[in-house]
Formats: sequence, C-alpha cells, structure tokens
Amino acid sequence: MIFAVVVSYRIKGEKNTMFQKVHLRLTFLCTGITAVIMIIMSLCYLYVSETGLRRNQFQAFRNDINTISTNLEQQTVISMEWLSKMEAQGNYLFFVLDNGTPFLFNQLNDPEENALRSLLLQESRDAFQSQSHTETSIRTSSQTTAFSNLTHAEYEFVSPSTNIGYFAGRICMGTDESALEIVVLSSMLNLENQIHEQRLRFLLIDLAAVTLLGIFSWFFTGWLLKPIAENQRKQAQFIASASHELRTPLSVILSAAECCRTAPPERREKFLKTISVEGMRVSSLVSDMLTLSQSDDHRFPIRTKPTELDTLLMNSYEAFVPLTQEKSISLSMELPDDALPPCNADPERVSQVISILLHNAISYTPEHGRITLSLAVHRDKFHITVTDNGIGISDEDKKKIFDRFYRAEKSRSTKDHFGLGLSIAYEIVKAHGGSIAVSDAEGGGSCFTVVL
Ligand code: ADP
Repeated sequence: MIFAVVVSYRIKGEKNTMFQKVHLRLTFLCTGITAVIMIIMSLCYLYVSETGLRRNQFQAFRNDINTISTNLEQQTVISMEWLSKMEAQGNYLFFVLDNGTPFLFNQLNDPEENALRSLLLQESRDAFQSQSHTETSIRTSSQTTAFSNLTHAEYEFVSPSTNIGYFAGRICMGTDESALEIVVLSSMLNLENQIHEQRLRFLLIDLAAVTLLGIFSWFFTGWLLKPIAENQRKQAQFIASASHELRTPLSVILSAAECCRTAPPERREKFLKTISVEGMRVSSLVSDMLTLSQSDDHRFPIRTKPTELDTLLMNSYEAFVPLTQEKSISLSMELPDDALPPCNADPERVSQVISILLHNAISYTPEHGRITLSLAVHRDKFHITVTDNGIGISDEDKKKIFDRFYRAEKSRSTKDHFGLGLSIAYEIVKAHGGSIAVSDAEGGGSCFTVVL
C-alpha cells in the first residue's frame, strides 16, 4: 500500500511540474505568437498612418506656399505688414532676402531668438542647396506686377541645432535689377507630437492587449490541458494500483519459491501449489490490464454481428449454475415470452460482461441468497439485468465502482478481486454504444442493468 502511495505521489508530483511547465510554455507560445502578429500589424498601421499624416501636412504646406506665391504675384510691392499677417496666420516663420541679404522685417527684441532665427535661415538654405528640388514656377504675364519669374520649391529638413524638423518653402522672384527670396518655415513639432502621442497610444493598447492575451491564453491552455492532465493522472493511478496488485502475488511467489528450495520434498508440493495459484492470479490480472489498455488505445476488438441475446443468456446461466450451487445460491433466469429480434453485438464480449456481473453477484451474495438474470426489450433497446440480494452497494460506492482498481471497503478482503471487472464491463458496453448502471435491488442487494 505504502509502495503504491509513494509511486502515485512521485508520478503525481512529476506530472504536476511537467504540466505546469507545458502550461506555461503553451501560454507564452500563444501569447507570443498573437502578440508578434498584433505588434507587426500595429507597426504597419503606424507606418501607413504616419506616412499619410506627413504627406498630408506637407501637401497642406505646399498649398499654402502656392497661395502665398500667387498672392505675391498679384502684388506690386511686398508689404511687411502683409508678411507679418501671413506669418501669424499660418504659424510660419518668414525670412525675406534681397539679393541674399536678410530684411529685418520680423526681427524681435529677444537677441537669442533672433540668433536662433538667423541660424534656422542658414540651415534651411544649406539644406536647400544639399537637396535636389523640383521647382514650380509661376510666370507672370501682367505688366503691373513687380516680380517676374516667380518660382517656388518646398522641402523638408531637420535643423541640426534644435533637432526639430521643418517644412521649408523657398519663393524666388527675380527682376532685372534685384532678386528677392522669401523663405517660409513651418515647424513639424506639432506633427511630431501628434505622431508620438499616436505611438504611445498604440504602445499602451498593445501592452493592455498582450496582458489580456496572456491571461486568456493561461485559462485557455489550462482548459485545453485539463483532459490530458486528467488522463495522465488516471494513468499514473492505474500504474500505481497495478504495481501494488502485482507486487502482492509476486512476493508470495518469490517467498514460496525460496521455501520450496529449502523445504523437504514432501512439503514442496504445497509451495508449488501456492506458486501456481498466485501465478494464475498474476496472469488473470495482466490479461485484465491488457484488455483495459487496448480499450484506452481504441484497439478494443469488438466484432458485432446479429446476436440472439436470449441464447447468450441461457449459455451464461448454464455455465454459472454449478458455481452458484457450490455456494447454495439460487440462480434464476427471466426471458420474454415472445421471440426477440437479434441484437447487433459482439457475443463474446457481451458474454464477458454477463460473466463479470454474475461472478460479482456470486461473490457478494451470502449463502442461500438469490440471483436473477433477466432480459427485456423496452423501446427497441435490450435490457440485461443481474439482480442479487447480497451485501448491496452504498450510494458513495455506486459512484466509484466502475473506476479501475476500485473495491468497496467490505470487499477488500476478497483475494480474487482486483477491482477491474466492472471497469472492463463498462468499456465493453461503451464500445457497443450502450450503458451500464447500478441500483439497489428491492429488499436489499444490487441490480446491474446493461442497455444495448
Ligand atoms: P472486483 O473484482 O473487486 O469485483 P469489480 O470492478 O467487479 O471488481 O467491482 C468493484 C467493486 O464493486 C467490488 O469490489 C465490490 O465492492 C462492488 N461490487 C460489484 N458487484 C457487486 C455486487 N453484486 N454486490 C455488491 N458489491 C458489488
């Protein structure tokens, strides 16, 4: 018993950590894969959205420069007032250069700010020279305009001193005597802030989604693994119980063999008999375990054919009469009066089920008891019933008797019972698509019903 508990405990402990590891790995895998897909999608979306945002802003800036250029084209002189108004309206920085020399129309009182503006102007002009541009030219035809050959070009640059990106527009107007240049700068700070905010929003959404995914994956994989873990637990229990059951007869065989070696010849026969009886027990247990393992692997050989169940019951009845007589138990049989249609079943397996039930009934019914084997048909279903007036089964035990190696407390002393009979019967009936149930018999005892 201690051996079985230790084996079961060890296997259970190992399985637990193993399942925890598998559970964790599966959770990480599910979360990881989904998170990677989600992050890639988010990045793609951000890329498309940011590119669109930059393009639209640049296009809006271009349109503004175009408007400014058209306005300029229609003026005869450039008024400083007009430039200041335009600057304030579009949130732009304007620089006017006459033959390369800056006009001081928008100089501020703050010398630092003025220095910064001058630097920006220089940087924008440097950037213009280092980039290639397609210039848009507006050729004026009016005689009243002050400017001819008006061209403008727009570009982007990042100020090396402030590290801020700018949209820049350069409008050039040339008269015969002088060349006027207007540089318009629009800071991309707002756009960058907008982009950063969007990125942060996505990061938070992704983080929240990954956390939720992790929680969901943990429960989902746990739910998926539950039947496997349960199966493993049952198998571990099965191995532990089987080891325990095998250990008892094997140790009896070993000690009998040892005694046989040293015992005088006249006493050896007794030990040899013990070895033979225990050997038979081991053999029967191994064959039961094989049947159950075949059923677990879905290799349970069920060969159904039209079977006359009344004939089958009759044969079982006749086979068990001598056994019941040995124990002074009366065995009776009840069959329907009318001829029954054949039942599609495996006759050998159904006989095995009836044998298990009759065997149990004989084992758990005291001398002078009664056992009834009956067959009935209700709603196209065959009901095979084995009723006894034996020790009966408690409600608590009724839930467990179909479990492997389960024996009710009061039947534990019986040496020939391993607690596998009913589980084999259950598997056979299940393979037939039928059901098996137990109830209390009238007046005490048990009633097992197999429905096929
Ligand atoms: P066993 O080989 O121990 O009989 P089974 O799986 O056939 O194993 O039965 C499991 C347990 O169910 C038995 O140990 C016994 O306690 C109980 N049982 C089965 N049949 C009967 C019955 N006819 N009357 C009372 N108890 C029964």
